[in-house]
Amino acid sequence: MAKKPFHPDTLAIRIQTDRSQHREHATPLFNTSSFVFNDAEQMRALFADEEDGHIYSRYSNPNGKEFEDKMAALEGMEDGFATASGMAAVFASMAAVLSHGDHVVASRALFGASHSILTNIMPRFGISHTYVDPAEGESVWEAAIQPNTKMIFAETPSNPGLALVDLTMLGKLASKHDLMFNVDNCFATPYLQNPGAFGAHLVSHSATKFIDGQGRVLGGIVVGSAELVGKVRAFCRATGPAIAPFNAWILSKSLETLHVRMDRHCSNALALATWLETRSDILRVNYPFLPSHPQHDLAKKQMRQGGGVVTCEVAGGIARGREFLNHLEMISLSANLGDSRSIATHPASTTHAKLSEEQRQAVGITPGLVRISVGLEHISDIIADVEAALDHTKS
Ligand SMILES: *Cc1c(COP(=O)(O)O)cnc(C)c1O
Repeated sequence: MAKKPFHPDTLAIRIQTDRSQHREHATPLFNTSSFVFNDAEQMRALFADEEDGHIYSRYSNPNGKEFEDKMAALEGMEDGFATASGMAAVFASMAAVLSHGDHVVASRALFGASHSILTNIMPRFGISHTYVDPAEGESVWEAAIQPNTKMIFAETPSNPGLALVDLTMLGKLASKHDLMFNVDNCFATPYLQNPGAFGAHLVSHSATKFIDGQGRVLGGIVVGSAELVGKVRAFCRATGPAIAPFNAWILSKSLETLHVRMDRHCSNALALATWLETRSDILRVNYPFLPSHPQHDLAKKQMRQGGGVVTCEVAGGIARGREFLNHLEMISLSANLGDSRSIATHPASTTHAKLSEEQRQAVGITPGLVRISVGLEHISDIIADVEAALDHTKS
């Protein structure tokens, strides 16, 4: 498993669990809850951390380890720990390293469940937070830092608003104030953006999305410095959000094609976004690599391509947004994203229906906002489906 001389695309394919005595080419599924010891002495040494090896699949498993090794290499980080879902990863990336009395400065534009962890769960354990609008400049972010602040947490691009935070600026701020910098890199994937290169100490992912890429399994991972991931591993070994071997096996296999798939997701998304901008019944199109995106320059600076998600504001508000979805024939209505199949959702009437109008506005969710996770189908078929649905629902 030579690591150093290879490009990330190659590492995603060639990092592999040691071959067994059967000389298999593809990594087998290690569907086992535990591992056997040669003798009592080996058993003692493994438990004492004097010898490297698997003990029990809540701690580690060859399939999980292969996925972790690949993700750490792709993100350019020292170590990783895989979890059962993206939310288990996000939670562990905070709970493993924060304590009662600590404070987190977080971007306001966060995935709903991450928002919930900071707003509803962490305060019960004495961990407080201050939200900052993602596009704010350094002085506003810096002003939110308190004497007990320990972490900056952000998601970029954000789900579903596609707001960016300036990774260079936050990386410098974290270093200046000696804070942990933690980034949810789910929308970009390690192929499009590496927060570690901008000073992030922890990077979390929902592997359920583009990393699986075919809507099959849940999974998550935290990668980062050896020291911090060591804390995440210890926390997860005790609390138990281990990834299932089967899910890790799927996700490691999926990484072999991540770069190929992301190129197509991104080119399809850019083509759809560009086409949507020509429609008079679309009030606004949001895609990081469109020149009209308010943070386009920043996107070009920190992302290699714009990602696979486009949002647009359909003229006619909530009613027309919902009607538009009902007239899609090929594109699926589903809560997932990052699938080979294109998926559309209407956040204002679903994921964010419980928020007030003002709260939705604050995170960029307008009434007619439609989120499209652009899949790998032929771009002409994607555009034709959107066009027909828009024409059917002319306001
Ligand atoms: C989906 C998602 C998560 C949560 O991941 P799960 O695998 O569903 O637990 C976290 N962050 C972002 C940005 C997401 O899109």
